[in-house]
Amino acid sequence: MAEIREFRCVIGGCSLSGDGLIYTCPQHGELGTLDILYDYEALGASLDRDALAADRQANSWRYKALLPIAPDSPVPPLDVGWTPLYAAPRIAHALGVERAWIKDEGANPTGSLKDRASTLVLARALELGISTVSTASTGNAAAALAGLGAAVPQIDIVIFVPHNAPEAKVAQLLVYGATVLLVEGSYDDAFDLCMAYCAEEGWYSRNTGVNPFTTEGKKTVALEIAEQLRWGVPDVVAVSVGDGSIISGLHKGFFDLHRLGWIETVPRLIGVQAAGSAVLARAWHDGLEAQAIRRAPVTTVADSIASELPRDRAKALRAVRASEGAFVTVSDAEIVAAIPQLAQLSGVFAEPAAAATFAGAWQAVAAGLVDREESLCLLITGNGLKDVARARQAVSGGIRVAPSVEAARTALNRASAHG
Ligand SMILES: *Cc1c(COP(=O)(O)O)cnc(C)c1O
Ligand SMILES: [Zn+2]
Repeated sequence: MAEIREFRCVIGGCSLSGDGLIYTCPQHGELGTLDILYDYEALGASLDRDALAADRQANSWRYKALLPIAPDSPVPPLDVGWTPLYAAPRIAHALGVERAWIKDEGANPTGSLKDRASTLVLARALELGISTVSTASTGNAAAALAGLGAAVPQIDIVIFVPHNAPEAKVAQLLVYGATVLLVEGSYDDAFDLCMAYCAEEGWYSRNTGVNPFTTEGKKTVALEIAEQLRWGVPDVVAVSVGDGSIISGLHKGFFDLHRLGWIETVPRLIGVQAAGSAVLARAWHDGLEAQAIRRAPVTTVADSIASELPRDRAKALRAVRASEGAFVTVSDAEIVAAIPQLAQLSGVFAEPAAAATFAGAWQAVAAGLVDREESLCLLITGNGLKDVARARQAVSGGIRVAPSVEAARTALNRASAHG
């Protein structure tokens, strides 16, 4: 196991140690999110990346030695991670870059990258003997906790979601048997309520940003990208950003690998925000520190990246700055249009927030943030079946016919004459 050396506050560098329910730095409050740091020399001496590559476990526990969990600790039984990394030559060609890959996170058990954080938080809860785990969510983090938690009968799951979360996401929660509170307010309202309730009840909070294990869980996507490219890395990784936790996890994963000497460079990270939910993009553009960021009202079709006050703002800004990346923003129209574009160029169906990554990649190339000779990985964070209603708005067609060969032929001839 990776022995935790310290929990270090991203704001003040304050060093914390200890066991139990560790969330944020007592001195810096909610902004003082924590990095979990290891003894990289000791890890480097005891681990071998080639031996790791021979591990046949097709899930994120192949990296257990790089995660803050004991080797013999029980883990949720569902297989999270080890998702496909597809070479995407037609995407590369369309964007005008040398090479492109798609990391298909919609292939996770509950259909999004959030499973990576939930499985680690649940493993931690099992280690601590906790009986209730809770989260607030725009939908996917909750589905991930509910789904993975359904396979762990010792633990009860309580979810706080905004009452207007997409139907498929709410259905997932109820199907998995979680206790669901539909909060009459925004995601940020649900978040604050969940935090307060967990504190009163002593429940374990999986809340994004607040729980440092979420970043560690999400970092496994970076470990996989590097391993799947035989410990090479793309020049650039693009990912959509709401709370900023995924991009922070990506950065931590590449940071750990770099510290271990397993990769030579950390990719530049490009964060894609919806124009209507662009608190981090604006802060980056204006050169603000995380402390100066204020909550702002947001509106976007991409519910998974709607965040009024990005919870992982400090780590997310650091990820983009330290990797010499950038933020870009995309309109709702571009996000919706990107759903069929991505699907037709790759066969991967993304929910709006995930298609936003592709829309943002166009922007990044057009803005000269990615060179034509460079390689680019698109992190497709969630499955298109999560929000079918929105996808349906992006496409037309479907020809109604009588059930006869004659009628089908007439209809198809007419369609091809027009198309
Ligand atoms: C959560 C989520 C994001 C954004 O991740 P943050 O950590 O909030 O920045 C993007 N896409 C999908 C599908 C998500 O579920
Ligand atoms: Zn601190």
